[in-house]
Amino acid sequence: TEALTSRDPEIARAIGQELGRQRDEIELIASENIVSAAVMEAQGSVMTNKYAEGYPGRRYYGGCQFVDIAENLAIARACELFGCGFANVQPNSGSQANQGVFTALLKPGDTILGMSLDAGGHLTHGAAPNQSGKWFNAVQYGVRKQDNLIDYDQVQALASEHRPKLIIAGGSAIPRRIDFARMREIADSVGAYLHVDMAHFAGLVAAGEHPSPFPHAHVATTTTHKTLRGPRGGMILTDDEAIAKKVNSAIFPGIQGGPLMHVIAAKAVAFGEALRPEFKSYIKAVVANAQALSDQLIKGGLDTVTHGTDTHVVLVDLRPKGVKGNATEKALGRAHITCNKNGVPFDPEKPTITSGIRLGSPAGTTRGFAAAEFRQIADWIIEVVDGLAANGEDGNAAVEEKVKAEVEALCARFPIYPNL
Ligand code: PLP
Repeated sequence: TEALTSRDPEIARAIGQELGRQRDEIELIASENIVSAAVMEAQGSVMTNKYAEGYPGRRYYGGCQFVDIAENLAIARACELFGCGFANVQPNSGSQANQGVFTALLKPGDTILGMSLDAGGHLTHGAAPNQSGKWFNAVQYGVRKQDNLIDYDQVQALASEHRPKLIIAGGSAIPRRIDFARMREIADSVGAYLHVDMAHFAGLVAAGEHPSPFPHAHVATTTTHKTLRGPRGGMILTDDEAIAKKVNSAIFPGIQGGPLMHVIAAKAVAFGEALRPEFKSYIKAVVANAQALSDQLIKGGLDTVTHGTDTHVVLVDLRPKGVKGNATEKALGRAHITCNKNGVPFDPEKPTITSGIRLGSPAGTTRGFAAAEFRQIADWIIEVVDGLAANGEDGNAAVEEKVKAEVEALCARFPIYPNL
């Protein structure tokens, strides 16, 4: 019964400070969002106490009748959202969802073909420091120099040369749509599985604002916490019964033990929210807002990779202003605008420096920002970047202070979590 504030004041204080940060700062990290109070309530529930190894109706522990309700609802809602016949909602993260697919379909030493990290892929798609790059023979494709779009001819050529067992489509910094039909053609030409990792754009797919991986993908994975706006976690989807069976054994007992039932309950709540008509309007606004942000940044003299976006992601190329990603991330942070430095394709800078920042509209759109607010945010970014361009890494402190005050005023007009 003892409240957190008295049981553990240090943690209570850190949580309070984090709430304040989220309230007072503009969140532009493309992989983040602001979940509903209902999602947090489910995640903070007594289901955290329950062991439930196995799957609904066939558990290795007693007393699972109520957590089964949560998991069955999560599965049914996921299948409805994505128009597929099978979902495993137990992966603890997007990385573990991918690891689950690899465990289901591959053996160590097999060849995989994924997008390279520096072109916009994810670590788990075969990057050298990741297990996917160490345990598999990972071949990597990239984007075309002339337009920064996926180089499908290169994907085909690499597939024909290396004959991968699995090809991964998807990534973490891809502003444009992926041609899943083309990727499937390439996979079929060499007898490979096509695995679509839609972690970033799953919310767009759910809302019908992005092509679906199905029927092209043999298997799809996603995180649940980005555009889908659920709790942190992962999920695996397929329409293929044989793959479904392998996926279930791969997640448990293959790579995980007891599933996080409180998180699965929160996933079910988020999927239920995503099935509502309001979610479609939300995602339409997410895309329109990212486009407004990109457009206004270009008007202010920056460039964005692919000169615009079809998604929630805006990858800013800072080179027209001669500033670096690391310094820009810090300067914007001082002005209470949160983002991450990110390499642009063919980036001459090291990953710790970079020539870009990655921005996204999901969190800001959740708190109610529309295109006008995103254009204002772009103007603030330009002001801060111009301060860096004129003064070097320290930026222009007066401009940063002024922008910070304006950011806080905007955030106060769009409050989050009023009841916390
Ligand atoms: N796949 C993609 C495309 C991602 O962007 C991410 C998130 O960064 C992941 C997988 C991994 O998700 P997690 O951070 O939950 O392990």
